[in-house]
Amino acid sequence: NDFAEANFHEWIKENVEKSGYAKPTPVQKHSIPTLLGNRDLMSCAQTGSGKTAAFLLPIINHILNNGPDAVKQATTATNGRRTYFPSALVLSPTRELAIQIHKEAAKFSYRTNIVTAILYGGRENYREQVNRLRGGCHILIATPGRLIDIIEQGWIGLAGCQYLVLDEADRMLDMGFEPQIRKIVNNGMPPKTNRITAMFSATFPKQIQVLAKDFLKPDYVFLA
Ligand code: AMP
Repeated sequence: NDFAEANFHEWIKENVEKSGYAKPTPVQKHSIPTLLGNRDLMSCAQTGSGKTAAFLLPIINHILNNGPDAVKQATTATNGRRTYFPSALVLSPTRELAIQIHKEAAKFSYRTNIVTAILYGGRENYREQVNRLRGGCHILIATPGRLIDIIEQGWIGLAGCQYLVLDEADRMLDMGFEPQIRKIVNNGMPPKTNRITAMFSATFPKQIQVLAKDFLKPDYVFLA
């Protein structure tokens, strides 16, 4: 029951070791095999539980399994304007959490050619974030409002998105993001039967249960 035994690519194992993670946390111990087995997941995980690595490591592994062509494909041009098609999308309630996830993703995908992009609302220049997409966008970490904006401008398409994570889902609903989240997931993203979806939430109120029922395949794994 440690990272070395998990069915990860060697690069990932090396990067985990370099991070100084000796043993998986309980959330990681249960989430990682679920996601590596391509099962959907609803995990009641708090901040500090190690939930970030619990979804990032399987995402990176999944993209590596798709092969080098898939990694290249994510930056293909269409319709004059360049549209970027991430393989994985992580939705975050806040800019701060998005930045934290982005840092972990860069650490764990070191030397893999997988690039993580970040989009969030607020003061930072819109143009600057769009320009940075040019560096690659296999894993996209985004706050819901800004992502809708960028999709509507044609910079991002979700048709190739095989992996969806809702991080701190309860917090996103508390902040009133449910309509935005539903819009993102129900417009242009592959249906739930054709993607892997993981939801992380500290609490599991009715509203989250409904979202889980709508977004996750019926045989999803629930981790309390
Ligand atoms: P998270 O809950 O993902 O925000 O992680 C909380 C903190 O625990 C972060 O600083 C991580 O870098 C750290 N962490 C996550 N997984 C492990 C692990 N298996 N061993 C040691 N530290 C970890």
